[in-house]
Amino acid sequence: MTDRAAAGPVLVLGGTAEARALAHELQSREAAFLSSLAGRVQRPRLPVGEVRIGGFGGAEGLAAFIRERGVAAVVDATHPFAATMSANAARACALTRTPLVRLARPGWGDHPDAASWTWVGDHDEARTAAESLGERPFLTTGRQTLGHYAAWSGREVLVRVVERLDEPPPARWTVVLDRGPYAVEGELALLREHRIDVLLTKDSGGSYTAAKLDAARALGMPVVVIGRPAPVTGVAEVDSVAAVLSALSDAGVDVGPAAPA
Ligand code: NAP
Repeated sequence: MTDRAAAGPVLVLGGTAEARALAHELQSREAAFLSSLAGRVQRPRLPVGEVRIGGFGGAEGLAAFIRERGVAAVVDATHPFAATMSANAARACALTRTPLVRLARPGWGDHPDAASWTWVGDHDEARTAAESLGERPFLTTGRQTLGHYAAWSGREVLVRVVERLDEPPPARWTVVLDRGPYAVEGELALLREHRIDVLLTKDSGGSYTAAKLDAARALGMPVVVIGRPAPVTGVAEVDSVAAVLSALSDAGVDVGPAAPA
């Protein structure tokens, strides 16, 4: 898999709870690692250990970073919708012959209500689907996606994002700044307070933001879910920290012994 001694740090591409959990585990094993964040949010939740912040400058920039730091392996633990970073990681690891593992939390396709949701391929489809299902949408698809919903500037829309928007939202939109984890009671209160009748979400998966789905079911509310981008071909994908450690060990990377319980 690699033509170099696997002695440098493991590079964890992060910005997710899974990446922070992996950093925590690597630290407890005293393994060499560093984390990378994109720098999108001003007050990110930081993982333990060394953290670098900001883009690398495409796949070539990441490849240069891997060479400079003698990175032993890369774990792409970015969000399931961070498709550009995942493609760049695959390209950079191919260029530098560095082992790469994708850590992605399972999606919500196995949720008990998944069959009742409207699954779509992109935001434009999501908008059209939501228009046929309700009048007052709750938009939880992320700050960077709001441009796709500009046609709703005349509607009452509830938007939840982690950070303030760069541009003022349309006057009729209500923007809530918050980040998970969320509880069902709080989500029910929010949906009721704003008289929401359709929920839009990406298939982010995991438990941090899943309470809205249970709240929607409790209120009999339709849900529109944007499916995940296709995984990068040829990259090993796992869904747990334990599986990452085992894949790294299999690739000859020293991840240290498990800390005593
Ligand atoms: P993206 O579209 O896939 O990536 C765009 C560019 O951002 C990349 O080309 C890279 O810049 C930089 N980048 C992304 N992740 C990076 C990282 N971990 N370290 C250094 N640079 C990174 O990514 P995105 O969807 O905007 O997500 C940005 C970050 O937010 C990711 O870390 C992701 O895990 C986190 N996040 C995303 C979402 C989401 O819904 N997309 C949700 C929660 C958290 P260069 O080309 O210059 O290297």
